[in-house]
Amino acid sequence: MTENCLFCKIISGEIPSNRIYEDDAVYAFLDIHPASEGHTLVAPRKHFSRFVEMDAEDVARLFEAARKVTAAVEKAFSAEGSNIGVNNGEVAGQEVPHVHVHVIPRKKGDGGRGIKSIVWTEPDRTNLEEVAEKIRKAL
Ligand code: 5GP
Ligand code: ZN
Repeated sequence: MTENCLFCKIISGEIPSNRIYEDDAVYAFLDIHPASEGHTLVAPRKHFSRFVEMDAEDVARLFEAARKVTAAVEKAFSAEGSNIGVNNGEVAGQEVPHVHVHVIPRKKGDGGRGIKSIVWTEPDRTNLEEVAEKIRKAL
């Protein structure tokens, strides 16, 4: 529990939430300002501000819970699909600095778009192998 973290307070029950799922590693609850009906946030109980701070076991537990929640959210709202994503860092739109996966159910004709509608900077497409090499070197 990190002091002054909104999601740590929600996970501990200090601040109420609409619980969807919980286990010893994860807590999932409804987003208070949903992008579509059923929009759920899936968070690790342990406080990590950024996704890359998590270890393999924590990530596995988080994404297995996100998979379960996605199946339930889609079933409950007869959704035909969903967007599943993490805003990682303030520059990427992260408002609450406690890692969480958004599960946003989608229906045909809802007016929403895909993940590339979040950002489109028109990067160079002629140097993809150079780009790949740069990332491989950083691994
Ligand atoms: P982020 O931008 O950090 O990826 O997403 C934070 C999300 O938390 C937002 O979609 C916002 O609507 C949601 N949120 C903010 N405050 C609260 C709250 O007090 N309770 C719940 N359930 N969700 C919240
Ligand atoms: Zn926290």
